[in-house]
Amino acid sequence: MSKIPVKDISKEPEMVSLYKKREKIYVREIHGLFQKLRSVSLWLLMLGYFGTPWLNLGERQAVLFDLPARQFHIWGMTFWPQDFMLLSWILIICAFGLFTITNLAGRVWCGYTCPQSAWSFIFMWIEERTEGTRNQRIKLDKAPNSIEKIRKKALKHTMWLVVAAWTGITFVGYFAPIRELVPDFFMFDISAWAFFWIGFFTVATYINAGWMREQVCIYMCPYARFQSVMYDSDTLAVSYDPNRGEPRGKRSKNKAKAAEQEALGDCVDCSMCVQVCPTGIDIRDGLQYQCIGCALCIDACDDIMEKLDKPKGLIRYTTENELAGGKIHLMRPRLFGYSAAVFAMMGMLAFTIYDRTPFQLDIERDRGRLYQMTVNDTVQNSYTLKLINMSQEPKSYSLSVEGLDGLNIIGKTDFDLDVNQLKEVSINLEIDPEVTKTKASKTNIEFIISETATGEEITREESRFIAPRS
Ligand code: SF4
Ligand code: SF4
Repeated sequence: MSKIPVKDISKEPEMVSLYKKREKIYVREIHGLFQKLRSVSLWLLMLGYFGTPWLNLGERQAVLFDLPARQFHIWGMTFWPQDFMLLSWILIICAFGLFTITNLAGRVWCGYTCPQSAWSFIFMWIEERTEGTRNQRIKLDKAPNSIEKIRKKALKHTMWLVVAAWTGITFVGYFAPIRELVPDFFMFDISAWAFFWIGFFTVATYINAGWMREQVCIYMCPYARFQSVMYDSDTLAVSYDPNRGEPRGKRSKNKAKAAEQEALGDCVDCSMCVQVCPTGIDIRDGLQYQCIGCALCIDACDDIMEKLDKPKGLIRYTTENELAGGKIHLMRPRLFGYSAAVFAMMGMLAFTIYDRTPFQLDIERDRGRLYQMTVNDTVQNSYTLKLINMSQEPKSYSLSVEGLDGLNIIGKTDFDLDVNQLKEVSINLEIDPEVTKTKASKTNIEFIISETATGEEITREESRFIAPRS
């Protein structure tokens, strides 16, 4: 007789947590070639970020995003909301640039220049100076509360907050003149919005770089998730060489184990590569999405190899192909395609900026009336012109109209505009209806702006003139 299998469902189901509890990472400080390279990139980044808003060009801050005036001043050029197309271009170029660099050398952006990594490294540096080395920090966290522990922790958090606040002030300094913002901030005389954004960026920096650190890279950064699609077997990545390192094992001075020791690979299983890793992973487990490509494990392992009198490079920048016994091929069709696209787009962007008309003309027809008849029996159309001088010097401009013979401009035709000045002017165009009666009721016309001093045409915009049919 066959039995029907039954399952006991009377017991409480076992709860399995889908969330892994965070284990605090105590990163060991390491010195070496790649640590030096990152120090250089970090210093350059910090100098650029904290220093740029303090630089002036002429009377004005060299980089200032003046939102109330809707003007974006970048190194002597002024961009307007109308130029936002250029911003899309810049973002597309950055995205392609990131694809290119990732295809070439993996996550070098994350390891050397990403603000999250850069600020995290500053905060770790402060931690090392205030709480001591990795082992001292582990001991301190396990120790019961004491005056000394509270003093060290308080000093660390105060220093973190100072860096975070200065980061927030600097960020707002890109949107409000920083030379006025900083004294006003210390005098408590800043706007509520400035105060809000300084507070927001202070808190965000303190939490992201102080508390969340690798969690941002592992769980929040979208780049970590899709970077693998840009990799191929010729992408340079920080990798452990298992052919050379395995079987790994600790070395022993016991002569009885000499034969066993002989069979071991170069990895002495010292775990230094894990202890220096800011994301807490073991690179010996292979390429992982948590790896930010900082190469600190290379420095750590090279240091060990040097002490053991073995060649460096057990962990190194290499490719999947090379680890499989092949060669490193840096230039390949995919990378060539990405690079060509980036350079072509950069060239086009540079040409567009160079060729940009330093003047903006917007024309609005009076929507209320198609046309009006005057007491002199002429037809008039009304227009509002918006003129912006986007060049870096005050200029005089002249207005003319083409497209319909006998058309007169009623209103001002000469305008003086200061640098970045916007002027709104109303004008009427007038014509004898005899001229238009043989034409269509709507005629395309062009408004032309020329520079008064040289007579050179700056820009022309199309509009329409409407007149009765008969
Ligand atoms: S640092 Fe080098 S030797 Fe030490 S465990 Fe890592 S790979 Fe092995
Ligand atoms: S494994 Fe860790 S230390 Fe090595 S490159 Fe990746 S993130 Fe850096």
